[in-house]
Amino acid sequence: MLSTRVGKVLSAAGLPIDGEVVKGVYMGKGTWGGNGEVMESVCPSTGEVLAKVATATAAETSEAVKRAREAYKTFRKVTGPKRGEIIRQVRNAIAEHKSALGALVSLEMGKIISEGEGEIQEYIDICDYAIGLSRSAAGRVLKSERPGHQILEVANPLGVVGIITAFNFPVAVCGWNFALCLAVGNATVWKPSPTTPLCAIAVTRIVADVLEKNGIDGAVASLVCGGLEAGEALVNDKAVDLVSFTGSERVGQIIGTKVQSRFGKILLELGGNNCAIVAPSANLDLALRTLVFAAAGTAGQRCTTTRRLILHRSIADKFLPRLVKAYENLQTRVGDPLKSHTLIGPLHTRGAKDTFFKALEQVKREGGEILVGGESYAPSSGDLKQGHYVLPAIVKPASPESPIFQEETFAPMLSVAIYDDLDQAIGWNNGVRQGLSSTLFTTDMREMGKWISEEGSDCGLVNVNVATSGAEIGAAFGGNKSTGWGRESGGDAWKQYVRWSSCTINFTDDAPLAQGVNFE
Ligand code: NAD
Repeated sequence: MLSTRVGKVLSAAGLPIDGEVVKGVYMGKGTWGGNGEVMESVCPSTGEVLAKVATATAAETSEAVKRAREAYKTFRKVTGPKRGEIIRQVRNAIAEHKSALGALVSLEMGKIISEGEGEIQEYIDICDYAIGLSRSAAGRVLKSERPGHQILEVANPLGVVGIITAFNFPVAVCGWNFALCLAVGNATVWKPSPTTPLCAIAVTRIVADVLEKNGIDGAVASLVCGGLEAGEALVNDKAVDLVSFTGSERVGQIIGTKVQSRFGKILLELGGNNCAIVAPSANLDLALRTLVFAAAGTAGQRCTTTRRLILHRSIADKFLPRLVKAYENLQTRVGDPLKSHTLIGPLHTRGAKDTFFKALEQVKREGGEILVGGESYAPSSGDLKQGHYVLPAIVKPASPESPIFQEETFAPMLSVAIYDDLDQAIGWNNGVRQGLSSTLFTTDMREMGKWISEEGSDCGLVNVNVATSGAEIGAAFGGNKSTGWGRESGGDAWKQYVRWSSCTINFTDDAPLAQGVNFE
């Protein structure tokens, strides 16, 4: 018997509350199934089992890919603007369910309700973007060196795109990929995180309904819930033209290598080890407010969470105690993410909590100190006792060279270092494997200029006076180096979801060769 808290959220999202096993595999034409292992979706806030989900076997995953390819053959002929109209309907249907889906994200992933709804808004926003793209995704006409010739760069869809997503953005990341794929004429097969299947099922039901009402085979938006078996089958299937993977560096390296070995296309969005630098001229009030959200928000479980803070020596003694105080104040705001007062929800799993404590131990072992937080949070309410709550921590490792600075600890632990010279701080920002997000708090234009230049941050996201996290969909999103070099969402990211052909066309009766070559 489900609690009222859970029952309300699940039924609003159209999911069963009577204990029935939820089918987690969809491959078009109203077909829902799942012959693989039955997995449990567990609420990170309370430990309550939300539902049992039937997942995909390897064979079902291959079948989903086959059906997606069949659906693609028809879908690629639908005109761009018509595809845009379908995306508009998807957008409206998701918007209609925004609060229900936002609460489901909060329930199943553990982020606070406002961020849950924000995630659905991101799906809506990328649909808006993709509607425009459906009419504007354009190639180019280039001047030829041969008289009467024209060169066209033509974008055609790739075919089938496999989308493998992480637990922490259980809806938006698929949206980034799916909306662009639909705009340019691809079919998709989505494998969500094994711990957030309900979000994926609820969204896919809505999308499938729109597709089917428009006479489009729903296999264009196939779903294979599951773990390793489904994931590996998708990665190894030669009929999957592009694998778009969002997750850890460790898994990204395995998947990237596998896809490359079959000469498939790969888009990687991996871990971040994001850094904020606070310069002497910074507006410290703004930096403080921004950093508390960026470092402790989502309980440190955004790929763009600020994990490293580099303070200029001249402001460190003034700034750090204020930040510590702000973290102390946060301790009264830990709890059930569905409650509006809560700012810090639980970690997603017990394993994540263990990782947090291990990282704190490492800081101490390496001679560093914990300035605030770093303990388990014991909720007063009985039903939250099985949740994975911690108190966000600020630590000061022994030195900026300490090994702990090199790793992404996917939990609310912020490591602090002190710098004297901006080049030194930029060196530390760049001196890690990962290259996702970074920010500089300054009002000095010369510093801003350097930061965004070739001498500045080597990350994919390079901000000024803005959090490392919380990107908008307008610009391309992604990171460099071991973050995988992928770009999703806005900007030119759509260009990765198409195959480009350079087409040289001769409008004359002559046959000149390029570079003046003579063959007569
Ligand atoms: P994860 O790497 O453990 O899992 C991600 C996905 O990969 C899941 O769906 C999982 O089932 C699947 N998977 C695991 N092994 C696989 C295999 N061998 N073959 C195919 N699929 C496999 O990551 P996670 O714990 O869910 O998410 C947290 C990580 O994701 C963090 O490192 C975070 O920084 C990163 N992330 C990055 C971005 C980004 O845009 N750069 C966004 C969100 C999360």
